[in-house]
This record gives sequence, structure tokens and C-alpha cells, in this order.
Amino acid sequence: MEDIRKELLNERKNGYDTVSKEDAIAAESFCEGYKSFLDRGKTEREAADAAEAICAEAGFVPLVRGMKLTPGTKVYAVNRGRAFMCAVIGSESLENGANITAAHIDSPRIDLKPAPLYEDSEMAYFKTHYYGGIKKYQWVTIPLELHGVMFDKNGERIDVNVGSDENDPVFVINDLLPHLGREQAQKPLGTAFTGESLNVLAGGTPYADEGSDRYKLSVLSILNEMYGVTEKDFLVSELSFVPGGKARDVGFDRSFVGAYGQDDRVCAYGSLLALTEATEIPRRTSICILADKEEIGSEGVSSMKSAWFDTFMQDLCEAQGVSYRAFCENSVCLSADVGAAYDPNFAEAYEKRNSPFVNGGVVVVKYTGSGGKGAASDASAELMSRVRCVFDRDNVLWQTGELGKVDFGGGGTVAKYLANRNIDTVDIGVPVLSMHAPFEVTAKLDVYMMYRAAKSFYTL
Ligand code: MN
Ligand code: MN
Repeated sequence: MEDIRKELLNERKNGYDTVSKEDAIAAESFCEGYKSFLDRGKTEREAADAAEAICAEAGFVPLVRGMKLTPGTKVYAVNRGRAFMCAVIGSESLENGANITAAHIDSPRIDLKPAPLYEDSEMAYFKTHYYGGIKKYQWVTIPLELHGVMFDKNGERIDVNVGSDENDPVFVINDLLPHLGREQAQKPLGTAFTGESLNVLAGGTPYADEGSDRYKLSVLSILNEMYGVTEKDFLVSELSFVPGGKARDVGFDRSFVGAYGQDDRVCAYGSLLALTEATEIPRRTSICILADKEEIGSEGVSSMKSAWFDTFMQDLCEAQGVSYRAFCENSVCLSADVGAAYDPNFAEAYEKRNSPFVNGGVVVVKYTGSGGKGAASDASAELMSRVRCVFDRDNVLWQTGELGKVDFGGGGTVAKYLANRNIDTVDIGVPVLSMHAPFEVTAKLDVYMMYRAAKSFYTL
């Protein structure tokens, strides 16, 4: 009876009941590196820099058009500081395609408006425009750091980072006290805070005894001292407020990682490390893509829709005198993006039989989209089967899942943009609790299994 049960049923098990002790220990130490990657990269620019540093350390060189590519050559390219791509050339011709992973390194946050600084009631504030899908109430009364770039009048780039050093000040969006919040409390969650109410407190000391704009001037004089910038330089800047603090272990048993921006840097880190740490020359070329602008619809020059990514792959093909069409036709892609982990506190939003669980391993998602698979890239059963076979061969802990209940909402990934290029693509990622919140939670075992899944996939 027990044998039949084992043979015929697909029983859900907790990962810790199935993985080896070695894997559980490896997960723990893998996440130490992961946490410092998160701390180094809170914006897509910083994450692209961190990825470049990891690649350079591993012996990758910048791809130069026309360079000779032989099996084992390791190359990378940075797209305008905001997206990243690297490859290890395989022993087989690129005509046979590549094994591609595609994650994204942008995360929801609070961007500054082009003319952000103003003062009101003897305090200085920044006007903001949020980036990506946020629940606005989560972003008030938490410490925020300011990250980004500005350009001075000579066109010199200035890197801004205020708040990551523990001696730095932080910033905050204030909320109404509950004593006076009776009316506010009656409002639906989605409308209690508006985009225009997300104003960030920037200062409160007057610059001079009299005159106008004393509070703005005070903030500007400090910024001028720190970075040599003026108010006009905000007009040509990319500045974002991101949640303050470092990545932390969560729970008495430290089995979870809590941090900002795990969607999707958790998949970015795992798929990148699986490539950079590989010691053998792969049979097929391995490629890792870290795209930008996924959170706002993959539009623009650094997004997955950009021809920049094709250019990189075309350059690889041209170096071997291979047709890009044949390359795409024979390539496969793991769209590496996070899934919504089942949360018993919000059971009504999930269909339990088809939701990924924390510590269940990577979640393989056949299709995303919303309301009748709308806008989904539906992976073929053939591709799912190929992935299953290598994952099982390599003891990768994996599960399947959907994004919550049918008709409750939905979402997408970069999968369709790869698939539209005639590349067979399937979604795989790490289940996340509180996705898009300033402090997202993942299970260490799943974080490690993303790395193992990518490693396994690169051998496909
Ligand atoms: Mn994502
Ligand atoms: Mn997202």
C-alpha cells in the first residue's frame, strides 16, 4: 500500500524532508553571499555594477564586436549602466542555440520627480512618482535611502547614495496620527494614500535669518557641499528612494531572508552565480540576462523588449558566422522571476493545490497572465518535460504553481518577450512572501535552489 502511494501520488513535501543535509547547509552559506548582493544593489544600476564586479572577478571580459569567441570564452556587456548580460561560449556551435536565463534587477520604489524639492510649513520635501506596483500604505513611516545619479552642468556624473551607511541620515514619508485618523481609516486601502501624498521629508533647518526658500536652500546647501550639485541638476538625474536597512535573517531558526528588492534580484543572483561559478566548458553556450524596467512593463532601451539584447546575441552569432534565426530557434530560456508563495494569512487569495509553498523549492510556472491566461506566455509541455528531467537528475527541489486564484488578479514576467523572439521559454523562480513590499521574505532553501536550478538548466 505504501509503495503504491509513493509510486502513484504526487504528495507535497516540505523541502527539508527531502533535501540532503549538505544541501541544507549549502543553502545557509549561499544566502550569506546573496544578502550582501542585495545590500550592494538596491537599484538596477547598483545591481548591474555588482553583477559586473562578480563577472570581472570570475574572469569575464567585456564583449567587443568582432572578437574571437572560442569554447570557454567568457564575455559580458552592460546596457547603459542599467541592464546586464553575460555568456560562456559552449563547445557546440551557436547554431545549436544557447541556454538562456533572464531575470530582472529593477524593483518597485519611490522615484523623485524631475523638479522635486519644495518647502511647506517650514519643512523641506521631495515630490515623488512611485515606480512599479506598490501598495502605497506600506511605504509611509519607514526609513528610506536616496540612491541614484545626477549630472552637473558640465555633464559630469555624480553617484548619490545617502542612507546606506549607518551614520547617514535617512528620509521618511509621514502619516497621520491615529488620534486624528478616523476619517482616513474609513477609506479603502487603495485610496487612503494617493501618489501625490507620497512626499518625502528632506529637512527642517532654515538656511538664513530671512528671505524666501530658506528650507529649500538649507537642503540645497548640504547637497552642494556633499556633491557639488544645484537645484537645476535634479532636472537631469535618476534618483530613487528605496527602503533603508540591510538584508536580515528572519525567524528564530533563521530560515528566511527578509530584504528589499528580492523580486527579482533573488533569481538574478542565483542565475548569475550558476554561470560565473561554473568550472567546466558547457556543451551549449550559457547566457545570463539581467533586464531593467520589468516592473513597469518592459518598455524602453534597457528593458527586455530592447534590441540591445538581440545585438549582444547577434554579435555572438556573427563571431561564429552563425544565423541568429537558427540560434533563436534552437535556444531555450528560463524566465527567472519570483512567484507568489502561499500565505495562510491570506488563504482566500490562493488556490492551495496550485500555489508554491516556501521551502518547496523553485516554482515552475507554465503560464502567468491574468483572467483566462491573458497576456501569458504559455510554456509547452515538451519544454516543461525537458526541464523536469534535468531538475530531477540533479536533485533540484522544484514545484509548480500559479499566481493566486483564477480571476483574482495576475501578473506577467519577461517570458513572453523572449518567447516572441522564437525562443522556447518557461517561467521559474523563487516563491516570495509579501512580494513588492519594502521588506520581502524568501526561504533560504528556495534561494539556494534557484542557483541549483539555473546550474542544472545551463546543461540542458
Ligand atoms: Mn519580478
Ligand atoms: Mn515584480
